[in-house]
Amino acid sequence: MDAARPIVPSGFESSPPGEDAPRATPVMEQYIEIKAANPDCLLFYRMGDFYELFFEDAEVAASALGIVLTKRGKHLGRDIPMCGVPIHRADEYLNRLIALGHRVAVCEQLEDPAEAKKRGSKSVVRRDVIRVVTPGTLTEDTLLDAKRNNYLLAIARARASIAEESRFALAWIDISTGEFRIAECDRAGLAAEIARLEPGEIIVSDALYGDAALAPYLRSLAAVTPLTRDVFDAATAERRLAAYFGLATTESFGALSRLELTAAAACISYIERTQLAARPPLSPPVREAQGATLAIDQATRSNLELVRTLSGEQRGSLLAAIDRTVTAAGSRLLAQRLAAPLTDPAAIEHRQDAVEFFVTDVAARADLRERLKASPDLARALARIALGRGGPRDLAAIRDGILAAADIAAELERRGELGDELAQTARALRRLDPALASELGAALAEELPHLKRDGNFVRAGFDAGFDEARALRDESRRVIAALQTRYADATSVRALKIRHNNVLGYFVEVTAQHGERLMAPPLNATFIHRQTLAGQVRFTTTELGELEAKIANAADRALAIELETFEKLAAAVTAAASAIKDAAEALAVLDVATALAQLAAERHYVRPQIDASLDFIIEGGRHPVVEQALTGDSSPFVANDCDLSPPPSAASGRIYLVTGPNMAGKSTYLRQNALIAILAQMGSFVPARRAKIGAIDRLFSRVGAADDIARGRSTFMVEMVETAAILNQATERALVILDEIGRGTATFDGLSIAWAAIEHLHETNRCRALFATHFHELTALAARLPRLFNATVRVKEWEGEVVFLHEVVPGAADRSYGIQVAKLAGLPPAVIGRAKLVLAKLEAEERASPRGFDELPLFAATPRAAPPRASTAEGVLAALSALHPDEMSPREALEALYALKAKAAEGG
Ligand code: ADP
Ligand code: MG
Repeated sequence: MDAARPIVPSGFESSPPGEDAPRATPVMEQYIEIKAANPDCLLFYRMGDFYELFFEDAEVAASALGIVLTKRGKHLGRDIPMCGVPIHRADEYLNRLIALGHRVAVCEQLEDPAEAKKRGSKSVVRRDVIRVVTPGTLTEDTLLDAKRNNYLLAIARARASIAEESRFALAWIDISTGEFRIAECDRAGLAAEIARLEPGEIIVSDALYGDAALAPYLRSLAAVTPLTRDVFDAATAERRLAAYFGLATTESFGALSRLELTAAAACISYIERTQLAARPPLSPPVREAQGATLAIDQATRSNLELVRTLSGEQRGSLLAAIDRTVTAAGSRLLAQRLAAPLTDPAAIEHRQDAVEFFVTDVAARADLRERLKASPDLARALARIALGRGGPRDLAAIRDGILAAADIAAELERRGELGDELAQTARALRRLDPALASELGAALAEELPHLKRDGNFVRAGFDAGFDEARALRDESRRVIAALQTRYADATSVRALKIRHNNVLGYFVEVTAQHGERLMAPPLNATFIHRQTLAGQVRFTTTELGELEAKIANAADRALAIELETFEKLAAAVTAAASAIKDAAEALAVLDVATALAQLAAERHYVRPQIDASLDFIIEGGRHPVVEQALTGDSSPFVANDCDLSPPPSAASGRIYLVTGPNMAGKSTYLRQNALIAILAQMGSFVPARRAKIGAIDRLFSRVGAADDIARGRSTFMVEMVETAAILNQATERALVILDEIGRGTATFDGLSIAWAAIEHLHETNRCRALFATHFHELTALAARLPRLFNATVRVKEWEGEVVFLHEVVPGAADRSYGIQVAKLAGLPPAVIGRAKLVLAKLEAEERASPRGFDELPLFAATPRAAPPRASTAEGVLAALSALHPDEMSPREALEALYALKAKAAEGG
C-alpha cells in the first residue's frame, strides 16, 4: 500500500465521548451534502494526498479496482466503509472506473487546510466537486486514445404520430479537440450516424430513453446517459447555446432547426454540468448537410472492416492498412474521413488536389512529414489548458506546435502554386501568433514535470522573484554562508557564525569577547541582541529575520510564483484558442494529405475520377488490405476490372453476378470494389490502374449468414432483416454488395430468395450492384435482365486439383468445384471418392429432368389473370406515381396497395 496515509483521516473520528446519540462529524456532514448533490456518481473526496471513497461508493470502487476496503470512523454508530486512491495514480483508477461504465465526481479541497484552521480548530476545509468525469467528457491523454476522437453525442427527437417518421437531431462534441457538429436524420439514419461516430457517450432525455420504440436500440448501445427534461428543453435551447459562446443569438451558426438547437443545447448543458466552472474551447457548431456524406450503415461498416476487423482488432482493418499519418491529430482526421466519405464531386476533388500535390512533389512530402512528425497534439493540449487540467508539458506542446506551424507554413508557401485546401491550411497556420511561442519559450524550462504542482518548470532568469525563491529554497545554505561572510567582513569578526536552532531559528553568534562590539554603536544598529550564553552572544538582524521568513516560505513561494506564471501563460494560450484550433486542424489536414500521398506512392494508387454520372469503372482494381497482406508473397495479388456503368442506352447501372468456387476470390472482389469507392469518396487515391466513379450516395454490404455463422455473429434472420433494409432503401445512386445471400437456409429457399432479390435490385432499386453467389442457376437470369452481367472467378483444373487464378472474367462458372476444394482442405480420400460418385448420379438425374428455371416468369411480370385494358393500366400507373412511399405510414401504404389492387381489378 502507499505510505504516508493517515490511519484515520482527520475529521472522521467517532463522536466525542459523552454524547448520547452519535452525531455526524463536520467533515462527514460536508461529505454527505456533496454526495447528495451527485447521487449518480462515485465521489472522489479529496483528503490530503488521497481521493477517498466512503460508504457504498467505497464498496463499489474497491471491488471494481481491486483495492482494499477498510473501515474508518463511525457514522451514526456504524463503521464507515472506506477506500482510497493516491492522487498521483488517480488517472489510472479513473480510467478503469470509466471503462466499467461508472461516472466519477471529483471533489477537491478548495483551500489550504491552514486557511480552514484560521476559522477555528473545528472548521472543515472547504471542498466541492470541480468536475464530473464521464466517458464522453474526457481530456486526459491517459484516458483517451490519441488516434481517435471521443465524442459526446446528444440525440433530440421530434416525435411524429408514426414512430418511423420521427425526426432526430444529433449534436456531437469532442471536448478534447473542441470539434462541435450538428446534423438531422431519420430513424434509419440515426443508427448509421451512431455507427459512424462511435460516440464515447450518448445523452438522451428521460422520455426518449423510456420510449418503447427506441428503448431496445438505445439499451443496446454503450454509455447512454438519460437526462432530465430541462436539458432537452426546446424553449430555452437557443439561449443556452448562445450564452455558452457569449453571443446574443445563434444566427451566426447558420439556420439551425429548433430540433438541432435542442440537441446542441443539450450537449452544451451537459458539458456545463460535468465541467462545472471550466469551459472547453469549443468551435462554433458546424451543421452537416444531409446527404453530404456517403451513408454507410452499421452492418456495412463492420462487414467491410473499415476501422476494425470482424473480430474487433484494428490490425487488418482498412484504416490500419491506409494510415500513414505521423501525428495523432492526423490519425483522428483520417479516421473521421474514412467514416464519412463525401458525396459532392467538387468537394472530393478539393481533397484529391491536396493529395496529388504531394504525390507529385516528392521532396515537399518528405520534408513536411518530417516536420509534422515533430509537431505536438495542439488541440488536446489546448483543451486541457483551457479546462484548467493542463500541465507544463501542454504549454510546451503549444509552444512547439506554434513553431512547427510557422515552419511548415513557410515550407508550404515556398512550394509555389497550392490548391485550395493547401492554401487554406497555410493561411490557418499563419494566423498563429509567434509572440505566444516566444513568451512560452522564455518562461518554460528545458526539462518539464508532468504536473504543474511538481514545480520547477519556470526557466531560470524569467522571473526575478521566482529565481530568488528557488535560490533560497535550493541554496539556503549557500545564501546563509554568503551572509555570514558579509557580516564577518563588516564586523571584522572572523569567527562570526550564522547558526540555526528550533527555538531561535537563524541567529548570528559570536564569542563573548566580540559580543560587546556588536552591542555598541555603530554595529548595534544592525545587530539586535537575542541571548547571552556562557561563552557566546547571539544576535539577529532585520535582514536575517527576513531571510529566515523567506527561507521558510521559499518553497511555497517558488511554487506559488510558478503556478501564477502557469496561469498567466495558460490565459495567454486560451485567449488564442480559436487560432490554435484552426492551426491544429490545418496540421491534421496536411498530415492526412501527405499521408495519403505517401500511401499512393508506396502502393501505386491512382487518382480516381469522380463525377455525377452513374458510372463505376475500375481497371486493375486491388483489395487494399489483402494486397498488403500478400506483399512479398510468392503469388501476388491479382488485379481485376469492374464496370457497373449503365450499358449503352440504359439509364441505370449494372449488376454483376459473380460465380466461382469457394476460395476463388469472390468476396475479395466484391469488397475491393466497395473499398475503392469509399477510398475514392473520402478523397484518397485508390488501388487500381484507373478508376471512374459516379458519386455514390449509399453503400450497402451484406454477407450471407453461412459465411458469418462461424463467427457466431449472425443468423439467417439477421441476414434477411439486413437484405430487407437494402431492398427497401437502395436507390439508383447506391452501391450494393451482396455476398452469398440466401446461403443460410435450405437450398431451394435460398435460391428463390436470391433470385427474387436480384430481380428486385434490377427492376426496382436499379442501383449498381455486385452479387456473389454459389447458386449457378442464377446465371440464367442474365439472359432476361438486360443490366445483369455474369462474371466468374477463373480456376483451372490441373491433374485433378483445382488451381485458383483469382481472375474475374465475363461468363459463368461451369461448376462449383466443391469436391476439389474439399480435397484441398484435406477430406479423407474415401469421402472424396464417395462424394464424386454421388455427384455423378445427381448430375445425371438433373440432366434427365432439368429444373427449368428459365421458364420462371420474371418478378416484375408476376402472372395476372389477363392483361388489363390500357386505360386501366394508365390509371393504376398514375395512381402509383402519385404515391410517396417515404411519407406514408405502414397503414397508409397498405391502404394504398388495396386501392391499387381494386383499381387494377376494375379493368379485369
Ligand atoms: P470466395 O469468396 O470466392 O470463397 P475469397 O474472396 O474469400 O473467396 O478469397 C479466398 C482467398 O483467396 C483469400 O483469402 C485471398 O487470400 C485469396 N484471393 C482472393 N482474391 C485474390 C486476388 N485477386 N489475388 C490474390 N489472392 C486472392
Ligand atoms: Mg466468399
